[in-house]
Amino acid sequence: MSPEPRLALSKPVSDEVRKTTCYMCACRCGIDVHIKDGKVRYIEGNRDHPVNKGVLCAKGSAGIMQHYAPARLSSPLLRTGPRGSGEFKPISWDEALSLAVDWMGEVRTRDPKKFAFFTGRDQSQSLTGFFAQQFGTPNYAAHGGFCSVNMAAAGIMTLGGGFWEFGSPDWDRTKLFVMFGVAEDHDSNPIKIGISKLKSRGARFVSVNPVRTGYSSVADSWIGIRPGTDGLLVMSVIHELLKGRKIDVDSLVRYTNAPWLVIDAPGTAEHGLFARDGEGKPLVWETVTERAVAAGTKGARPALSGRFELEDGRVAVPSFQLLAERYLDERYAPENVAGETGVAAEVIRGLASEIARVAFEEAIEILQPWTDMNGERHPSFVGRPVSFHAMRGISAHSNGFQTARAIHVLQALIGAVDCPGAFRFEPPYPKPVEAHPTPHGKAEHFGSNKPLSGPHLGFPRGPEDLLIGPDGNPTRIDKAFSWDAPISAHGLMHMVIANAHAGDPYKIDLLFLYMANMAWNSSMNTAGVIKMLEDRDEATGEYVIPRIIYSDAYASEMVAYADLVLPDTTYLERHDCISLLGRPISEPDSVNDAIRWPVVEPDRDVRGFQSVLIDLAGRLKLPGFVDHRGVPLYKDFADYIVRHERRPGIGPLAGFRGAGGDRVGRGASNPDQLKRYIENGAFFSAHLPLEAQFYKHANRAYQDFAVKMGFFDTPQPVTFQLYSEICQKFRLSAQGLREPLAPETHRERLEMAFDPLPAWYRPLEEAGVDREAYPYHAVTQRPMSMYHSWGSMNAWLRQIHTRNVMYVPGAICDDVGLATGDWAWIISHHGRIKVEIARSDAVNRDTMWTWNAIGKRKGAWGLAKDAPESNRGFLLNHLIHELLPPKGDGMRWSNSDPVTGQAAWYDLRVRIEKAEPDQVSRPAFASVGRAGAANDSPSELRYGQEWDR
Ligand code: SF4
Repeated sequence: MSPEPRLALSKPVSDEVRKTTCYMCACRCGIDVHIKDGKVRYIEGNRDHPVNKGVLCAKGSAGIMQHYAPARLSSPLLRTGPRGSGEFKPISWDEALSLAVDWMGEVRTRDPKKFAFFTGRDQSQSLTGFFAQQFGTPNYAAHGGFCSVNMAAAGIMTLGGGFWEFGSPDWDRTKLFVMFGVAEDHDSNPIKIGISKLKSRGARFVSVNPVRTGYSSVADSWIGIRPGTDGLLVMSVIHELLKGRKIDVDSLVRYTNAPWLVIDAPGTAEHGLFARDGEGKPLVWETVTERAVAAGTKGARPALSGRFELEDGRVAVPSFQLLAERYLDERYAPENVAGETGVAAEVIRGLASEIARVAFEEAIEILQPWTDMNGERHPSFVGRPVSFHAMRGISAHSNGFQTARAIHVLQALIGAVDCPGAFRFEPPYPKPVEAHPTPHGKAEHFGSNKPLSGPHLGFPRGPEDLLIGPDGNPTRIDKAFSWDAPISAHGLMHMVIANAHAGDPYKIDLLFLYMANMAWNSSMNTAGVIKMLEDRDEATGEYVIPRIIYSDAYASEMVAYADLVLPDTTYLERHDCISLLGRPISEPDSVNDAIRWPVVEPDRDVRGFQSVLIDLAGRLKLPGFVDHRGVPLYKDFADYIVRHERRPGIGPLAGFRGAGGDRVGRGASNPDQLKRYIENGAFFSAHLPLEAQFYKHANRAYQDFAVKMGFFDTPQPVTFQLYSEICQKFRLSAQGLREPLAPETHRERLEMAFDPLPAWYRPLEEAGVDREAYPYHAVTQRPMSMYHSWGSMNAWLRQIHTRNVMYVPGAICDDVGLATGDWAWIISHHGRIKVEIARSDAVNRDTMWTWNAIGKRKGAWGLAKDAPESNRGFLLNHLIHELLPPKGDGMRWSNSDPVTGQAAWYDLRVRIEKAEPDQVSRPAFASVGRAGAANDSPSELRYGQEWDR
């Protein structure tokens, strides 16, 4: 409960207040929805909610216009004209579901991999993933591959959890906060609340970002780095810290793999792997007895440097020795990276010395005894109050995995992980890689009318876990977990349509998408993707992707390309579950989950997608959704949330379990669980005891708590992996030294990307184009007031932005002869766009930028034909191709990080040429047919009148 006194802000405006969870961005704040005469009257923040504590942003309060948007779909639709025409006929739900079941059931029997199910910014992935697993297709993922999988994968593989949904800065105690590449859409309100706390305490905030908008504009120091070089900057900071011996040696020995011995046997299959004992435990060199012992041996004093001969004659060195040799190299000296990063040597040096000063001279202590996993009792929690946060700005590069790893290594080197004042894990994290599944989708994992033998997404421990056939070809349509992208923990949604169209690795029969605007702003090469969706097979006349089912609440551009449309409700009209099994909303000191529930009933013939999925699963008789007689187990999603158990006693929600609702984490299902959530403000929160709040990776009290809550069945402590043996295994395969061997065509790329220590390489598009012909970077930023294309049709939010311009640095404007209001061609290796520009000096001098996802296609989203969004607004996507420029041998790699398959949106290189003034941005697309409810959208929206149907 909030301790602050409450002021009555205004007279009651409603008959009733219903508490639920916002869905106007990914942050999932608690909201109070005021209802008057059965309609939504007003939305405000829930002051008791653990995420936002009453704070509400512009998007959140404009949810009312999202709910009443003219763009809402109003009934199931069956396509009657060609794809893209927008010609549909409304059909009944019975007809729509029968058709979907016919299509899906036939594919499931014949060849389940020909069914591809991908979801966009879906917040119910524990259900959608389970559905796909029980269906038995290997082809499922959500949107993480084109968002921030590099952050997630690097965080889990290094620390057991990374930024955002895995952890958060210790806003109340941190004294120096360093943020890399973050716009304002993820974790939006908590960051704003956090920054305001820093400001009021006088803590220092440094933002590293090519563009000085939003958070960067209120930072104490803005480092306007050149895109794609953050990793190099961080490595240079590490160089300085090592040189100055400003590292936390005790923490390295206790909590990281710095002392683990790495075999030095060049040219062999074990070179670079950890030396292990007979039980597989990694070895360290014990300095007193001068022999190798298992890591974690009580009383051992491991070496961090040296070169040692093991009993079997092999030679090994502590991984820290390799790390130190790597980063002490002069190529990481500030002077030597200044040119590439665009950051002056003295700025890098200053950043390193400030990090060291705060970490070691301003250390803090909380006098709470605690016990580590070795049974050692500690009198207090020592904190190094330097915290970091990063997001898509560093993630969406083809070197983003290694950049994120570098930041985590930096945190571990100074001992600033899950201690007071630093980055802190949010339960159920940290979770070591070993506690995650390996991916499933090999040929032997699925078959006709059978569930997949395990979850789709996970973490390969080495090349032996890749989802490839005996011929080395990918078994997934997006080529996730293949040699193309071995650790693609979130799949590669951005490659699905292109691969399915090319029949590479095979054709599919049915594509089922949810909330993913793949015909517009969620695809690279938008015009190309539209053509792929429209293309027909010359021989049969059928579409190359024969059938597409799409579910969305709104008439997005993608709707026009679907054959069958299943209209979703708005977020105020359905049940939803923000689950610890999916994407948690915990805080460092508390375990939290939440629900949405229908605070108003739909007034259209629409159904919540999750309930529709459960209905489909019942009709398809998918195991786990029907009983042994084939009778559906669940009435709808609400019923599933309450009664589904993933493991005995573990269900989608952790709160109010057990027959009496008094169990937490583990417990029998409780028929009143949703009622209890609603009474509690639509969320549940369980506080960690103080003894369990820090050093969760090695804290006995936390690990016991995690087992009690059901996160794990046995304690899962984490040793931070500064040196990644998993990466080294892939590297050995790429070097032709370890089975299975990587195909020749992939070796160079994998060897470069799979460095076991964070390494920097030039982003692949930049390395593949003529840098003189395309001398600049072009990136997007997410507006604070909009969340993807969703918000940019919202009547209230459109009063803030209705069009975007390209912001061009003053120096480039002067070179090209441009001024604010001029028009210019922006040209990449793939295409050109004509846009209006504005001069800006709040940006890196080699970088131009624009707001993302404001440009719309005419006819979509219920907007008028002359809407600025579709006339003057534009997408950068037209310049970005899903494939890199051809190499010398004609091969074209995916425009992704070679480790994770993360879409490399921000690697784009461009040039700029002055153009004739215009009134319409180019390319100008023909109007897409106005499918569904958008046909009758009013020309003007007034609160409480026309929109209030
Ligand atoms: S930050 Fe996101 S979830 Fe929170 S109120 Fe704003 S839009 Fe809603």
